[in-house]
Amino acid sequence: MGKLLIIGCGGVAGVAVHKCCQNSKTFSEICIASRTKEKCDALKEKLQNTTDTVITTAKVDADKVDELTALIREYKPDAVLNVALPYQDLTIMDACLACGVDYIDTANYEPEDTDDKEWRAIYEKRCKEEGFTAYFDYSWQWAYREKFEKAGLTALLGSGFDPGVTSVFTAYALKHYFDEIETIDILDCNGGDHGYPFATNFNPEINLREVSANGSYWENGHWVETKPMEIKREYDFPQVGKKDMYLLHHEEIESLAKNVPGVKRIRFFMTFGQSYLTHMKCLEDVGMLSTSPIMYEGREIVPIQFLKALLPDPASLGPRTVGKTNIGCIFTGKKDGKEKTIYIYNVCDHQECYREVGSQAVSYTTGVPAMCGALMLLTGKWNKPGVYTVEELDPDPFLDALDQYGLPRSENRAPVLVD
Ligand code: NDP
Repeated sequence: MGKLLIIGCGGVAGVAVHKCCQNSKTFSEICIASRTKEKCDALKEKLQNTTDTVITTAKVDADKVDELTALIREYKPDAVLNVALPYQDLTIMDACLACGVDYIDTANYEPEDTDDKEWRAIYEKRCKEEGFTAYFDYSWQWAYREKFEKAGLTALLGSGFDPGVTSVFTAYALKHYFDEIETIDILDCNGGDHGYPFATNFNPEINLREVSANGSYWENGHWVETKPMEIKREYDFPQVGKKDMYLLHHEEIESLAKNVPGVKRIRFFMTFGQSYLTHMKCLEDVGMLSTSPIMYEGREIVPIQFLKALLPDPASLGPRTVGKTNIGCIFTGKKDGKEKTIYIYNVCDHQECYREVGSQAVSYTTGVPAMCGALMLLTGKWNKPGVYTVEELDPDPFLDALDQYGLPRSENRAPVLVD
């Protein structure tokens, strides 16, 4: 019996809520709280007669700690699942600390306004010292470690698919298959087709900021930075086929580099079709991906937010998307002195997800692990005071839950990624 407060009501939240409702024994009560309460009410309306989970809804501006603390004090949840945007991570963590509840999210903090002077000064110092220019990193949330430890609370960071399941696959590989992991290649393939010339599968602002930034990877104890889309590889994905994929910076590289002893190289690749890349380059060249406000007809607008309003809502892609995702990690390393390579991955079918929960597979593959992270905390399996990324905890119960709730893993013993 547990009570979960879910903040945000977009594509990922929709799946997490469906999955909580499939497990009313653990999630006996949930509250869906977001900026637009009507979306929460519509989801409640859709689900409340299909489940024993008691669903309530609330309006909250998660940028405001006082609104969050008032809601948490009134609802008294056991944990808060943040599936709003990475911009709200710190305010929600502050509110959890103030109210004494555990915290879970799926993406690390990034500032909404990268022109903010205070943030920029810290960012520029870090770029100089650490040699990479990603504007999202764990330092902001790792700074909460002591506070969560002292409060006896758990903050679970990055419980989506990547970061999330890919990091748990790493902990699993280290626990069961390797004495030593030498290289990790995280591969994120969306082999789905939604029929639009250009659309993003999750929040457009977050997605486009991520893929238009410089790439980087970890090698021999250092970050190596690349130009956006500079490194391209082809991979033959099981059940999907051959796809082009490009090296990106991704947040789990940072935590895995700290948590996998002796790892020599960690890279992240994502597949993109030519139409997506051509549109993105053109939008970038004309300034539509900018996060800095501009004046338009006497009013301030942020170009990327205006673009978001023009693009299809990711939540609307479900009925039209066909095909599969294949996301996983290629590990190389040693076991009992022998070289070993393995690809651990999940394949998820867009239309099967749509039939089950009304969403496409990108929201599904994030919403299910988000629920599983909350499940680990509500059932006492991962409770440890402090701030943790998922690879720091026992992978077995989490992977059992993933199998049970729709994301079983596969393993292929002979993968190759041509360097
Ligand atoms: P959506 O844009 O579909 O949903 C975001 C939700 O957050 C919306 O309901 C939005 O409200 C709400 N929200 C935004 N700002 C606030 C605020 N200030 N106060 C309250 N609610 C707010 O995003 P997704 O569902 O696609 O993504 C959710 C999260 O999942 C993101 O952080 C994303 O980075 C992460 N993600 C993680 C992945 C992983 O594998 N780890 C993969 C994909 C996504 P409104 O409806 O009013 O706009």
